[in-house]
Amino acid sequence: MSFVPLSHFLSSVFFVGSFRRHRVILSAGLLGFGLTGAALLASQAKSTGPTPDEALARLVDGNKRFVAGSVTHPNQTAERRLAVANGQAPFAIILTCADSRVSPEIYFDQGIGDLFVIRNAGNILDDHVIGSMEYAVEHLHASLIVVVGHSKCGAVSAAAAGGEAPGHIRSIVGAIEPAVEKVKGQPGDKVDNALRANAQHVAGILRRVEPILGEAVKTGHVKVVAARYDLESGQIELLP
Ligand SMILES: [Zn+2]
Repeated sequence: MSFVPLSHFLSSVFFVGSFRRHRVILSAGLLGFGLTGAALLASQAKSTGPTPDEALARLVDGNKRFVAGSVTHPNQTAERRLAVANGQAPFAIILTCADSRVSPEIYFDQGIGDLFVIRNAGNILDDHVIGSMEYAVEHLHASLIVVVGHSKCGAVSAAAAGGEAPGHIRSIVGAIEPAVEKVKGQPGDKVDNALRANAQHVAGILRRVEPILGEAVKTGHVKVVAARYDLESGQIELLP
């Protein structure tokens, strides 16, 4: 192993790289400088932003403000814009529908640089979506992923209705079909059941997908939560 100067070691731990790289550098530090496990954990904790639970609480609070009509529009000033122009550290990753009525910065009452948002019809997964999340976890240290389905989702309605969808829409409907299948025969509204199942299904995959997200969830660095947004009340409901 090559010698790493202490100053470089410390700045690396606190300011650059992913938690994966932190672990590599920390391992080198452990061998080179005899740090204890507790010191390693403390260093690692300092290198990250809010915990997954803190991040979730921030979103829940923001949604409560939105529902109550008491939004504060945080982090939307010119100062904030300038402050994050040279670097971002979003505290949460949101995967939600492309529907024009479900903008996360609005329903979570957040601002510039707060949320790393990925949107497509039906809030579904492909390699581009997962790769974007991996980037946000590895390089931006976001600690929370929320998959937000919404009431009356057109993409889920199309999948629940069955039949052939035209063009590339077929690919979207196909991705939602497992959720529709899962809730077949259940009481209640077919579309609402399916959009809940779809968000839960997507969240379940994200908790396991290797190598980056699955590992981050396993080690507790990242939490993945499914949720449902109600178009009428504006309320976010966390799903089990
Ligand atoms: Zn939708």
